Amino acid sequence: MTKQEEISCYICGNKKCSQIHDNIRYNLSPRPFRCDQCGFVFIYPKMTPEIEKEFYEKTYRSAYDNQDAKGLWESSLPEAKRRVSRFMDLFSTDSKLLEIGCASGYFLFEAKEHVKSVTGVELTKDYVKYGREKGLDVRESLNDVPDNYYDIIFMFHVLEHIDDPIYFLQDLKKKLSPTGKLIIEVPNVEDVLVSVYRIKNHLDFYWEIAHNYYFSKISLKHVLDQAGYQSVIYPLQRYDLSNHMYWMQFGKPGGQGYYNSIFTPALLAEYENNLKDKFICDTIYAIAEKNCAGTDLK
Ligand SMILES: [Zn+2]
Repeated sequence: MTKQEEISCYICGNKKCSQIHDNIRYNLSPRPFRCDQCGFVFIYPKMTPEIEKEFYEKTYRSAYDNQDAKGLWESSLPEAKRRVSRFMDLFSTDSKLLEIGCASGYFLFEAKEHVKSVTGVELTKDYVKYGREKGLDVRESLNDVPDNYYDIIFMFHVLEHIDDPIYFLQDLKKKLSPTGKLIIEVPNVEDVLVSVYRIKNHLDFYWEIAHNYYFSKISLKHVLDQAGYQSVIYPLQRYDLSNHMYWMQFGKPGGQGYYNSIFTPALLAEYENNLKDKFICDTIYAIAEKNCAGTDLK
């Protein structure tokens, strides 16, 4: 087992961190820890750069969603449509949009008719190829897109995979236009399944090696502050009451709507709104802008 004295918190540098569960997805050996001082949650030890490269090239897609680019596109279009409608108020016909980690391009495809241009950055070569076949502008590196250019940059479930999120976000500022907005969506570590129900099978599944960090409303705001953004954090609930009951009953993911013949739309909405009000929802997102008043690190 890992020596605890080697651990230090990414946020506050504190070396006293406590292991919070005894397993992670696929029975791998790293464990989730919480900083005793600031509460930040992370997986330790992280993958080495060599193992991480191999992991994302060979293991990640097959182990985690087992879908090719086309399958991922088809299964993700409903979520892409929900995302476009959620952020429609931010779009204009003059907007130049960039998505970091665009996978096979389903969100860009749904967003493109509402903005001036869409561009994606994606590391997985099969997805780059598929997105391009769909007519999308997909680049393989952030270095391939212009500086001081984008009015809206999206990152859906990407930040938790990044090794040094504060550095990454500082660097990303140069891609934004002076009034550009950055939208970051991540899982919320205060998710009711994790913070309240604490179902063992769910926790064994929830903690995973691909996520270096697990953000809360407080820690997401903190990394954005540190990187020189002003931001507001919003709650979002993606899974419904049926999904939670299914986990409790069967100890595995059950999708959505399992009890729709019993649960009324009003009941589902009430449950969702309660989780969001208490910020124990499964997802959070930030809408951020460059903080012109603070130090603007180059
Ligand atoms: Zn800490």
